[in-house]
Amino acid sequence: MSNTRKWRAKDRTTKPNSRQKRNGLFLDEHPDCAACGEPSEEAHHQLPAGHADRHEWRHMKALCRDCHVEVHR
Ligand SMILES: [Zn+2]
Ligand SMILES: [Zn+2]
Repeated sequence: MSNTRKWRAKDRTTKPNSRQKRNGLFLDEHPDCAACGEPSEEAHHQLPAGHADRHEWRHMKALCRDCHVEVHR
């Protein structure tokens, strides 16, 4: 589990664009995938692009890569 956190922190500093940073903070607070409980890797936005509240945490979902792929099928 600590390995995942280390990797995530490193990844965030190597890609310092604002979207990565915001999702990284969200994932730090939501370390488990909302669907399967595995370590979360990506932040899913439940609102469509361009929506004003898109980046509000209550409209985001922490997911692992597999579950994120599933949700976009
Ligand atoms: Zn998952
Ligand atoms: Zn998504």
